[in-house]
Amino acid sequence: MTKKVLVIGEVRDGELRNVSFEAIAAGKTVANGGEVVGVLLGDNVSGLTDVFAQYGADRVIVAEHPDLKTYTTDAYQQAILQVFDIENPDGVILGHTAMGKDVGPRLAMKLQAGLMSDAVSVELDGDDAIFTRPIYSGKAFEKKKVKEGIVCATIRPNNIAALEQDPTKKADVSTVAVDIKDLRTVIKDVVQKATGGVDLSEANVIVAGGRGVKSKEGFQPLQELADLLGGAVGASRGACDADYCDYGLQIGQTGKVVTPDLYFAIGISGAIQHLAGMSNSKVIVAINKDPEAPIFEVADYGIVGDLFEILPILTEELRNL
Ligand code: FAD
Repeated sequence: MTKKVLVIGEVRDGELRNVSFEAIAAGKTVANGGEVVGVLLGDNVSGLTDVFAQYGADRVIVAEHPDLKTYTTDAYQQAILQVFDIENPDGVILGHTAMGKDVGPRLAMKLQAGLMSDAVSVELDGDDAIFTRPIYSGKAFEKKKVKEGIVCATIRPNNIAALEQDPTKKADVSTVAVDIKDLRTVIKDVVQKATGGVDLSEANVIVAGGRGVKSKEGFQPLQELADLLGGAVGASRGACDADYCDYGLQIGQTGKVVTPDLYFAIGISGAIQHLAGMSNSKVIVAINKDPEAPIFEVADYGIVGDLFEILPILTEELRNL
């Protein structure tokens, strides 16, 4: 049986985040040949309809409202539920981002559905969607099947491959007038920290530093390597606690969960709470002067030595490739 699946797009700095395209790919699997409908919420998002379609949305719904300009739980929940009432779909998929983590469980509760949160893959068993999701801080994976009711899921960025973009495609667009009321929170202003451009949770390359980096200035060579590879800088909590960098860069159980193609762990011991946020990276390179450091147990490539000697050589060699 085919299904109709809504995919809630996530817009940042005027662009759809990659995870929204990955969610379309997940939606295609769940829909089983049915329809995947992209939903764009915001106050000036209609320019993004074609790109949503180019990554596979069969139709795009635009719901614009001044109260949707910046994400708030109440406004987005109301808007999504109103689109849901009109479309009556079989499922809804969001990115497992700050937004998806917040509104996903609320939607599931309102829709009387279970929530497949933080899914890293999805497949079909007959008509039923089976989601794979990490448990026990990434030490194991469970597979869960949605046997009945609405399929409600959030997917982890960088795990489900987006479909190839068809730049010639034009979206089949409809608009929905949403009624937003009784907001308990209103965003007056958004103050953004300069993060160097590449979004940590969607970066393909991450150069992460730990307490071994020893200072704020010590992070500069890590930034250089990240810039060279088009990646982002991340950090352990040890480095954040020591005020070498901002908590927005923290990776781990109480920080961001990342799955880049390439993860450098530099001067990071590899505590279990750090591994919870990065151990599913595709290739892990560790530099640590302690050969017994637990990070080497998950690393694909390990270099034992002083990071201050090794990092400049590594960066130079990569620059000369
Ligand atoms: P350290 O453990 O101090 O390790 C520093 C490493 O640098 C050492 O292995 C050392 O050999 C190496 N080193 C030192 N100098 C050099 C050099 N010159 N060259 C090469 N290597 C060098 N941590 C997280 O990262 N993320 C989380 O989300 C997180 N959540 C937590 C939640 C809870 C509830 C708790 C209790 C802890 C959490 N932690 C988290 C903290 C975690 O337990 C560790 O304390 C932390 O990850 C350690 O950071 P670190 O590896 O940078 O520092």
